[in-house]
Amino acid sequence: MSHFTANETYRNFMNGQWKASVTGQTEASLNPARTGEIVGYIQKSNAQDLDEAVAGAKQAQKHWRKLSGAARGDMLYRAANALERRLDEIAETMTREMGKTLPEAKGETARGVAILRYYAGEGLRSVGDVIPSTDSEALMFTTRVPLGVVGIITPWNFPVAIPVWKMAPALIYGNSVVIKPASEAAVTCAKVIECYEEAGFPAGVVNMVTGPGSVIGQGLAQHPDVQAVTFTGSNEVGKRIGQAALARGAKYQLEMGGKNPVIVADDADLDLAVEATVNGGLRSTGQKCTATSRVIVHREVYESFKRKLLQRIGQITVGDGMKDGVWMGPCASEHQLRTVLSYSRKGLEEGAVLLHGGKRIEGEAYDGGYFVEPTVFEQVAPHMAIAREEIFGPFLALMKADTMEEAVELANDAEFGLSASIFTSNIGRMLSFIQEMDAGLIRINAESAGVELQAPFGGMKQSSSHSREQGRAAIEFFTSVKTVFVKG
Ligand code: NAD
Repeated sequence: MSHFTANETYRNFMNGQWKASVTGQTEASLNPARTGEIVGYIQKSNAQDLDEAVAGAKQAQKHWRKLSGAARGDMLYRAANALERRLDEIAETMTREMGKTLPEAKGETARGVAILRYYAGEGLRSVGDVIPSTDSEALMFTTRVPLGVVGIITPWNFPVAIPVWKMAPALIYGNSVVIKPASEAAVTCAKVIECYEEAGFPAGVVNMVTGPGSVIGQGLAQHPDVQAVTFTGSNEVGKRIGQAALARGAKYQLEMGGKNPVIVADDADLDLAVEATVNGGLRSTGQKCTATSRVIVHREVYESFKRKLLQRIGQITVGDGMKDGVWMGPCASEHQLRTVLSYSRKGLEEGAVLLHGGKRIEGEAYDGGYFVEPTVFEQVAPHMAIAREEIFGPFLALMKADTMEEAVELANDAEFGLSASIFTSNIGRMLSFIQEMDAGLIRINAESAGVELQAPFGGMKQSSSHSREQGRAAIEFFTSVKTVFVKG
């Protein structure tokens, strides 16, 4: 059964009410698999809307922070249950709105449910340490307090998981939130907000304002009543947000791009390495920050790896992610499609060799959607744009290495440092990769994408502002430490 109602208008959520923007303007969110189809309309808000949301959040946080962790956790459990009940419908909306296949969208929504449950339990876990004082009559300990209003700015590629993994820890530790989702996936996010509403959060604790990033996103980063800003998205925007937050002494957290390498050693299980490269590089149409984009293969096994890889990629079915049997959906927007095609041109101009793909997929069966062939280049040199810049599409750059030292050197020759994989059966090589690879996520005999929700997530170099999301690590960002000295 389809749960989908097209052309609905979604309003902002503030002070517990769904409210139209004062601008009176809306914008359409489109289906990238069928370009004529509108998924819904969202508000094109302005600074006045944002001010109203932040004022409500500021007021509501004063009471929210006083509730027990258990009481806040109960709300998150209820939000998890609501999201679980609406899993099929929300996953369907996600597929229609940003193109990932329905099984992937269901998996992501289920992940959202699990994250909410994880953080609901966090309301009963200990915070702080007792620290021995040199004064035997004193008690010294740390405790943690919420920050206040947290601004959340999210991308379109994980429209349920990323909003949830930022909102859930912010809320459980006693903050109120104002989220600005990416316009390309704001209908999906609005449905997640409905789950929070259904859970019965007090008015003003959870707020959503949609609109242009340069107005609402930047507005959150600059707002004097927003104590912290957490952002996931591109490097360019992230840096701007970081600067705006830093300028007024607000806390900020930036999770940004990647150019994630996979190393295939001469002792690797090649079938495993091929499967992981295909899944890591091409699932979600390569639009994951942890997607594999550089594949560095030892000379000894290069030809057999390449043959197996191309054979496997030749089996991939591309199409509307709502359809059974489709393995890879469209690019999420025309902009993403153009980016992938422009890098295919750049690769050829720079002298790399195209092995597969590189073109848009068109024709009657494709409804004008933003479909692109999975693309593979070889003879990619480290200085080329396709080896250095994040493409964010189904695009693999193959490189050859003579030794394992050279392979790790090539892997580290990047501005980013989010995720990195190695395929090898040699424990010594695994250990030296763990030591020498500059990446926040180290993956051994596993694809570069994918991290468990209870483990710290984040990158090194230009991929991140170096704090960590998810699991217990989130407490560091969403709270402030107080050191208490009590003299009896
Ligand atoms: P984006 O940077 O264009 O947009 C992200 C968010 O910022 C959106 O909500 C957008 O509206 C807003 N925004 C845009 N311009 C703004 C501005 N001037 N000021 C403030 N906010 C602004 O990114 P995207 O295209 O939505 O997502 C793709 C990017 O996200 C990729 O670079 C990808 O690597 C990254 N990403 C990173 C992670 C991670 O955890 N490291 C996860 C997913 C995606």
